[in-house]
Amino acid sequence: MTLVTLPELLAEARRQRYAVGYFEAWDIYGLEAVVAAAQAERSPVIIGIGGLTANHEWLGTQGIALYGAAAATLARSATVPAAAMYNEADSLKEACSAIGAGFNTVMMVGQGLPWERLVQATVTLTTEAHRAGVAVEGEFDELAEMRDGVVRERTATSTEVGRAVEFVARTNVDCLAVAVGSVHFVTGGFAPTLELGLIRELADAVAVPLVLHGGSGVPADQLRAAVDAGISKVNFGTRLKQVFDVGLRNALAEAGSDVNRTYGSRLPGDAMTAAAQALTEEVRRYMQILGSSGRIARG
Ligand SMILES: [Zn+2]
Repeated sequence: MTLVTLPELLAEARRQRYAVGYFEAWDIYGLEAVVAAAQAERSPVIIGIGGLTANHEWLGTQGIALYGAAAATLARSATVPAAAMYNEADSLKEACSAIGAGFNTVMMVGQGLPWERLVQATVTLTTEAHRAGVAVEGEFDELAEMRDGVVRERTATSTEVGRAVEFVARTNVDCLAVAVGSVHFVTGGFAPTLELGLIRELADAVAVPLVLHGGSGVPADQLRAAVDAGISKVNFGTRLKQVFDVGLRNALAEAGSDVNRTYGSRLPGDAMTAAAQALTEEVRRYMQILGSSGRIARG
């Protein structure tokens, strides 16, 4: 298998009623850990990095180029179908910079832009991206966020069906991130209640696959229900960092004094490898929940 386009991955998922996970990484250990999980589960996968909690200046000067090359290399050599995504660009300029960097999917957040300006910016992005064979995930709503243990609604709204249909028709995006009750940055202490009826309505009305962000905070039974209702892609970020954090702290507590071994050796005793293995296990668990496990024949 190899680098596969997002529309191909999601069309199959939609037909077979499972979802493909986007598991956000922040370094090469993380990207490799996600690919390892997909290969172990024989699951299609979306690997990549994103801008939601990162330094956009760094991303713009070198981060997107570095990770685009790494993600494309890893997706190409994966033994299961993999797409390489740049998630949550915070501007049209940043989204366009990901197009030539090796990613075959790019997503741009709504940036609080007025409707018409966001539609126009998204049209520009899809035109540029499609010319280069890159898919686009669109979004026009904002999710609520968990900050310091409190859910902040800010300007969060639920996706209106009519607007979703119009946005997809006018912008030609390949999939649509919808706001249906999930919350960014949750890793426990709060369980959102997904609007399953709204997901069903959206899935019936919208021409492209639907994406659920904020997967980290959604309990397994609700993730399954969301997939049954018509979600074809689920994003996970915060929970993965939490698992990596615990794995790294545990490994460092047992590490010897040879720092050349502990950091970056990829030999037994590499603390980051140990943390990445914990990450792989968590990603495998999510693939089983989403129903994407076992979809790809071996060899
Ligand atoms: Zn997100």
